[in-house]
Amino acid sequence: MRVLVAEDQPKMASVLKRALEAEGYAVDLAADGEDALWFGSEWEYDAIVLDVGLPLRDGFDVCRRLRQRGRWAPVLMLTVKDATSDRVQGLDSGADDYLTKPFEFDELFARLRALTRRTPTPRPTVLEWDDLELDPATKSLTRDGTAIELSPKEFSLLELLMERGDMVTSRTEILEHVWDFAYDGTSNVVDVYIRYLRNKIDRPFDRDTIETVRGEGYRLHHDPRES
Ligand code: CA
Repeated sequence: MRVLVAEDQPKMASVLKRALEAEGYAVDLAADGEDALWFGSEWEYDAIVLDVGLPLRDGFDVCRRLRQRGRWAPVLMLTVKDATSDRVQGLDSGADDYLTKPFEFDELFARLRALTRRTPTPRPTVLEWDDLELDPATKSLTRDGTAIELSPKEFSLLELLMERGDMVTSRTEILEHVWDFAYDGTSNVVDVYIRYLRNKIDRPFDRDTIETVRGEGYRLHHDPRES
């Protein structure tokens, strides 16, 4: 999941980035309304956390313009006080939800999960593939009932693959959704993480869930024993 955070207070922005990264999100930061509009127009985000009070353009304006440009990433607006006018204006500008500062991170995470489930097609709360069960809310993964520990990046990568199922996901798509804008490595990192995942979810169980599609990317493969 790749998220854009538009927040002008550097301290708040870096705290948010770290907290979201610890949850497995890839995070880009925008410090003003112009940057937020540029990032939001240029890249496809799974969600945008948008502060209302931004320099150059406020959050309402950014949201309205993104919608005008056909950008439909779910937007969670951060409002300063519990002002009804802010909420109404926020929803009118095309935001999907709002959160009043100060807020608890747990609530932010819960709302982001709800928003990212909503688009583009409704997704089940728990993702399943054969005997694999992945729960984004509790960050837990089981295979045939056995708990498997994953790092946040591994979790995020597997979540993406499970959402896509048997559709091929390219390395570029994986990089865009699991790593952030600042990441300047090569796509080799994807292969490395695929190997980590296979070592955790497939090899110990004598399975072959993650299939390499040569020159294209990866997709999930059903175990014949599961059908
Ligand atoms: Ca602000």
